[in-house]
Amino acid sequence: MALHKGSGKRDERKVSVNPFFGEANPVSGMTEAPPTHRLPDTPLPPTTAYQLVHDELMLDGNARLNLATFVTTWMEPQAGVLMAECADKNMIDKDEYPRTAELERRCVAMLAELWNAPDPSSVIGCSTTGSSEACMLAGLALKRRWSKKNADRYPGARPNLVMGVNVQVCWDKFCDFWEVEARTVPMEGDRFHLSPREAAALCDENTIGVVGVLGSTFDGSYEPIAELCAELDALQERTGLDVPVHVDGASGAMIAPFLDPDLEWDFRLPRVASINTSGHKYGLVYPGVGWALWRDAEALPEELVFRVNYLGGDMPTFALNFSRPGAQVVAQYYMFLRLGREGYRAVQQSTRDVARHLADRVEALGDFRLLTRGDQLPVFAFTTADHITSYDVFDVSRRMREHGWLVPAYTFPPDREDLSVLRVVCRNGFSHDLADLFLADLARELPGLRRQERPSTRDKGAATGFHH
Ligand SMILES: *Cc1c(COP(=O)(O)O)cnc(C)c1O
Repeated sequence: MALHKGSGKRDERKVSVNPFFGEANPVSGMTEAPPTHRLPDTPLPPTTAYQLVHDELMLDGNARLNLATFVTTWMEPQAGVLMAECADKNMIDKDEYPRTAELERRCVAMLAELWNAPDPSSVIGCSTTGSSEACMLAGLALKRRWSKKNADRYPGARPNLVMGVNVQVCWDKFCDFWEVEARTVPMEGDRFHLSPREAAALCDENTIGVVGVLGSTFDGSYEPIAELCAELDALQERTGLDVPVHVDGASGAMIAPFLDPDLEWDFRLPRVASINTSGHKYGLVYPGVGWALWRDAEALPEELVFRVNYLGGDMPTFALNFSRPGAQVVAQYYMFLRLGREGYRAVQQSTRDVARHLADRVEALGDFRLLTRGDQLPVFAFTTADHITSYDVFDVSRRMREHGWLVPAYTFPPDREDLSVLRVVCRNGFSHDLADLFLADLARELPGLRRQERPSTRDKGAATGFHH
């Protein structure tokens, strides 16, 4: 046996580890309460940190009872596994993750065909973090197209974008961020979205485009895109103004192709320059993924495109972010592969069936008037019938929240600020059974509501909830 001597000089070299190597102090997790609003001084064991965060999140709402959001709240376990496997993939690293880049390319190709591009090979598209980013990019393309055509007048002239007052807030953001005048068509009577005639009337030589929404977040109705295009064709004949259309299909671009194949709203209409959708809404993927597609290179000015390394060459990109997770794009490809056209049709059809059925049953209660019936987006809006004076939609929203249901109530924009509604968004996972439970809870509340002397929700803002 070899004999060893103690070290004469003290060895000052430290072992090179960091907290990920193990639990430095196994009891620290039991003795230390970390501060919550200041970066803690010392690390915690992973099990302790996990338990703390996990327990806090238990108090988040139950997403299946949330009838306010359009965003996917359930995917099958295999999708979850795939996403966890891809959590480290950065979408912008096309060179490092060429297969992820390829899956994105395939998704764009599938959407180009789904949206009936006459020449899918000329379509250009990309994934985004959601429809908001997609709308920013589409709006930027419209603005740049217009400014190039009007180089003699811009800067100087003020560009404008024409849309219904019912557009999602991302369009207000776009106009604000990129200094474009928002020209909105107000609601009127029982028309809760844009009218083609009025939209065309707002166009002039500074109009970068018209946004048509499929469908409206306010009531789930489809805007009449084909009629809008026809009206703009007539405008061009009369005045020479050639105004492109962007379709904000955040929800509907993943519903209409499967359930309303004869409805012309997409690239079949030559005036439609670009379309966006939210992969994380009826694309059935967890947040956040969206898609933006342009009909051809002319619709997306080359100067907006940036190039990144890709397998020794370069790949064009168009995005607001640089780094972004790749997992959602992979999950979108998984869903396309998993369901196919027939699968998507079946899922969306059952969601629409639930929406229509529930809308009918709400109407049959007798206290409500339906504005929409769930037969376009699987979404419907309703208000209290004229004879109901003892309570209002805000009271209903508040009472349903006590049962765990999130049903937003909100007031319509101009010129229907007199109208307040409740809106139910049906999604995959909101089954007939859950719809029946919802209806039973609503019916149970009605006697109490009818007995009220007058509407009782003073803080209407608090009752409305998030409704975009
Ligand atoms: C949800 C929605 C948006 C915003 O989409 P995100 O994916 O949430 O960013 C834009 N437009 C319409 C019509 C929408 O429904």
